[in-house]
Amino acid sequence: MIKQIIVISGKGGTGKTVITGAFSALARNKVMADCDVDAADLHLLLNPVVKMRQEFRSGQTAVIDQNICDQCGKCISICRFDAIGKDFVIDPISCEGCAFCSYVCPTGAITMNENVSGEWFISETRFGPLVHAKLGIAEENSGKLVALVRNEAKKLAEEKKCDWVIIDGAPGIGCPVIAALSGVDCALVVTEPTLSGLHDADRVIGVARHFGVSAKILINKYDLNLDMTKEIEKYCKKNDIEVIGKIVFDKSVVEAMVEGKTIMEYENGIVKDEIVAIWEKLQEKL
Ligand code: SF4
Ligand code: SF4
Repeated sequence: MIKQIIVISGKGGTGKTVITGAFSALARNKVMADCDVDAADLHLLLNPVVKMRQEFRSGQTAVIDQNICDQCGKCISICRFDAIGKDFVIDPISCEGCAFCSYVCPTGAITMNENVSGEWFISETRFGPLVHAKLGIAEENSGKLVALVRNEAKKLAEEKKCDWVIIDGAPGIGCPVIAALSGVDCALVVTEPTLSGLHDADRVIGVARHFGVSAKILINKYDLNLDMTKEIEKYCKKNDIEVIGKIVFDKSVVEAMVEGKTIMEYENGIVKDEIVAIWEKLQEKL
């Protein structure tokens, strides 16, 4: 049976993609999914070669055919978003796609066009297939695009009879995270030993629990604040959350990133050993 594991964090910059990249190198027989569609970083590490590219369509925008419009003004008066100008041209940014205008137009001059809001891809990487996406500028449908990336990654994993789907989740607790989380077998929450790190982790764990997903914590750079690390461990104990592992701060992590490598492909060191131990533990638990 395919196991889906998502790496998330309450906010950006906690090392989430470093961990996803390392798991991508460690896991055998897997598909990877980059659900951080607003700031996709995983591809920088995995250097994907696009094999399949498709448009992502979401929402609608009204368009007036000036050849058919008799300038009666009905559409202007009913549009709650003031999207239709006096020149009977619809501003696509203001149009919310409600389609009311197309119902009231007596001449049938208004059509609803589907928006192209981004693209999604299936790529090949040195670690196996990656499903990823790019959201159009100023688009706000990242939740839908994330759900699509998730579904396509799962489908591909089923076709290829894979054991794992490794997902790089979006940061924060918004709609994209929820879309990325639902139905996974385990959410690994990467946090740092700071008060805000604990606060953010607590919020995202709340979201995971709400959707019935079991969460485990990984404390990254734990040695930078041992007191706060103890606090996080206390919080986990109190809330019955497993601390799956801790990783020391080490400059090799940044060096590997700069070279476009996962930490598993970089020089041997303690961080590498710690991540291997965490991956082994996770495999046992799932
Ligand atoms: S679709 Fe709705 S928002 Fe867009 S122009 Fe028509 S009435 Fe206005
Ligand atoms: S309702 Fe139709 S015909 Fe009337 S102004 Fe709008 S687009 Fe033109």
